[in-house]
Amino acid sequence: MLMGTALDVAVEAADRPAGLAASERAVEALEAAEARLSTWRNDTELARLNRAPAGEPRPLSPALARDLGAARRCWQETAGAFDPAIGPLVQAWGLRTGGRLPDERERRAAVAASRMDRLRLEAGFAVRERPELVLEEGGFGKGAGLKDALAALAEAHVARASLDLGGQVAVLGGWVVPVADPRRRVRAVMALTIDGGSVSTSGNSERGIAVNGRRLGHILDPRTGAPARDFGSLTVWTADPLRADCLSTGLYVLGPERALRWAAAHPGVEVLALLPQAGRLRALASPGLKGRLKTLDPEMEIEFPI
Ligand code: ADP
Ligand code: MG
Repeated sequence: MLMGTALDVAVEAADRPAGLAASERAVEALEAAEARLSTWRNDTELARLNRAPAGEPRPLSPALARDLGAARRCWQETAGAFDPAIGPLVQAWGLRTGGRLPDERERRAAVAASRMDRLRLEAGFAVRERPELVLEEGGFGKGAGLKDALAALAEAHVARASLDLGGQVAVLGGWVVPVADPRRRVRAVMALTIDGGSVSTSGNSERGIAVNGRRLGHILDPRTGAPARDFGSLTVWTADPLRADCLSTGLYVLGPERALRWAAAHPGVEVLALLPQAGRLRALASPGLKGRLKTLDPEMEIEFPI
């Protein structure tokens, strides 16, 4: 168990001691990422940054500077659909405390407070420009940990390995990765063949929270302050696990049509959207996934709209 979810490690090595040593290095890298990024405890570097006085430059470790730099790039690239400073909205909707409905005033205040441009990033330093800024690792922590773990495996001279952290997969070498049914995540409906990189899926279906009988998702649209439209699931395949994690959340917020257009404009990023429609699943995929997808559900057909 790591980052509140289960980790599955598979390593191919010359012999058993080498394989065990390499997988141990991967686990240690993930533990270090959790000790840097978790805001479920108050002793991590990110939790301390969230408590730093506004206006005061805070030194960042190289690792956290990288994480926040990558998260900020994804915020820019998705025009704010992915926002690592979404903490005030996560609090307003009680996503960590069983869910609640914020009133209109509260929601507007949280939208105004949830903005990554309120964090100034400079070489090795960060400045919280507003006291209400709260960074939230939920959308990028697992990806950051997987990136570090892959690097640790590569350093241990592993050529083929797979890490599955609560549904986000990162691999070295060629693998076939299952893609879950958004209606029932234990069921795989597609197999995606990749030659390295990371596959991250975002969806609202199963991790939703019920408030007053209404089901809320755990992915919020930072631009409106409302839960993102629940259309199914959105899967991203790209080389960098940290980018894959951020993008699956951000492109989920943009919705399937815009996500596919976004992928077409960004070489190296492939997208698969699964949409439950009239009891069946529609699969929309970006052109780079041609020849890489196999349906495990005979009722399903894959469309390449672009
Ligand atoms: P999972 O944790 O299941 O992999 P995601 O990677 O999509 O799911 O991350 C969802 C988490 O990201 C939420 O629980 C919340 O902490 C955070 N989050 C929600 N909406 C956004 C958003 N628009 N931008 C950035 N982070 C978000
Ligand atoms: Mg994720």
